[in-house]
Amino acid sequence: MLIDDIQYENAEGKNDGISLSRSSEISPFSEEHVLFRQSFRAFLEKEVIPNINKWEKEGEIPFEIYIKFGEMGYFGLDFSEKYGGSDSDIWYTVILHEEMAKVNSGGFAAAMGAHFFLALIHINAEGNEEQKQKYLVPSIKGKTYGCMAVTEPFGGSDVKAIRTTAVKKNNHYVINGNKTFITNGVNSDYIIAAAKTDLKADSKGLSLFIIDRKTPGVTATKLDKLGWRASDTGEIAFDNVKVPFENLLGEENKGFYYIMEHFVSERLSMAVASSATAQHAIDITIKYINEREAFGQKIGKFQVLRHRIAQMASEIQLNKQFVYSLYKRFENSEYLVKEASMAKLLATQLCDRVTFQCLQMFGGYGYMEDYPLARMWRDSRLGQIGGGTSEILCEIIAKSIIDKKGYKVPDNNKIS
Ligand SMILES: Cc1cc2nc3c(=O)[nH]c(=O)nc-3n(C[C@H](O)[C@H](O)[C@H](O)COP(=O)(O)OP(=O)(O)OC[C@H]3O[C@@H](n4cnc5c(N)ncnc54)[C@H](O)[C@@H]3O)c2cc1C
Repeated sequence: MLIDDIQYENAEGKNDGISLSRSSEISPFSEEHVLFRQSFRAFLEKEVIPNINKWEKEGEIPFEIYIKFGEMGYFGLDFSEKYGGSDSDIWYTVILHEEMAKVNSGGFAAAMGAHFFLALIHINAEGNEEQKQKYLVPSIKGKTYGCMAVTEPFGGSDVKAIRTTAVKKNNHYVINGNKTFITNGVNSDYIIAAAKTDLKADSKGLSLFIIDRKTPGVTATKLDKLGWRASDTGEIAFDNVKVPFENLLGEENKGFYYIMEHFVSERLSMAVASSATAQHAIDITIKYINEREAFGQKIGKFQVLRHRIAQMASEIQLNKQFVYSLYKRFENSEYLVKEASMAKLLATQLCDRVTFQCLQMFGGYGYMEDYPLARMWRDSRLGQIGGGTSEILCEIIAKSIIDKKGYKVPDNNKIS
């Protein structure tokens, strides 16, 4: 089974080796959702999967794929019809994350996600009408795309420690500083960047800006990395970049609040994607161990491998149901800081373990680029680093359960 042979498993679990467990699960999906999943999968099979190996080698996604996603309405699921979106319920986005996780390119999923899930979520939530017309409308169509630049060379986990500054001068801000590890950081059309507007304050001095890529003083350098190879992760430098007042996103000094508010949905999306990746790894591996022979029998007959699969499939099932239950609560506007942290922590760790074990079951072929597990394993590693490291998530969970800290939707007004 070469990497090009990877087939999707049926949404209902047909021929996937763990159909029993899947048919017994509580599904949040309606018939319309299932149809959407099928059509999105067909789209990925036609437009994305045949090109993935090439994009992985080239280290970037061609612009045309954004246009195609836009034409199909995939960037607009979460957004109002007024701006070209479809106002769909949360489960369509869940399906999007799950199916993108199964194309076996963390870099591809990240490139799409950084646009519609990071940049657009901020423009939609904090942008004013003019900003939405200028950036959200063409972005939903896939005619332009963005990135979200928070992390800096001197610290990612500690968002308060950001050093990039935005100082008012005449009718614009002058932005100076550096960002690093930014997904879509080299090729995107615009950057949602966090910068300090009050240099004396910590979290209360941060603001968000929409910075057009072509603004003089913006430069970017591509980074070489272990996995997520199809996405253009970059370092961005701002050297006396003049940003007009109208490109301030939301209110001045409320950037920290905006970033924190969206962490819940980002962590849930990473959890659901990790869970789907782990399931995909198991499905591929079950097929492989039922074909590969050693010592005169299929390796899938060795009890040690069977038990390992059984253990992992059980954990994935549990994890997936936990994440779905959180999405149900998220849909009801619950603010799930602790729970989303738990879900991302466990799902990304599970994905690491599963891809590691599945690679092992492929033996030497697992280590080869022509087979799917090598990429799955190295792409999975990012899950415990991006969007809040496992250690930071444990800090949040510990504060919640040991120190009894309650996490409420940040009070917008108290931050100013
Ligand atoms: C491929 C890739 C894509 C990314 N895309 C983006 C993007 O699009 N936009 C963006 O803004 N950022 C992005 N990031 C950055 C990512 O969010 C950060 O790397 C992450 O938040 C960790 O920050 P750091 O790398 O500075 O590590 P550090 O914060 O320096 O942490 C180093 C180590 O110390 C641990 N640590 C730190 N603080 C504590 C603590 N209080 N207690 C215990 N342990 C602690 C961490 O868990 C980690 O193990 C991306 C990163 C990668 C690798």
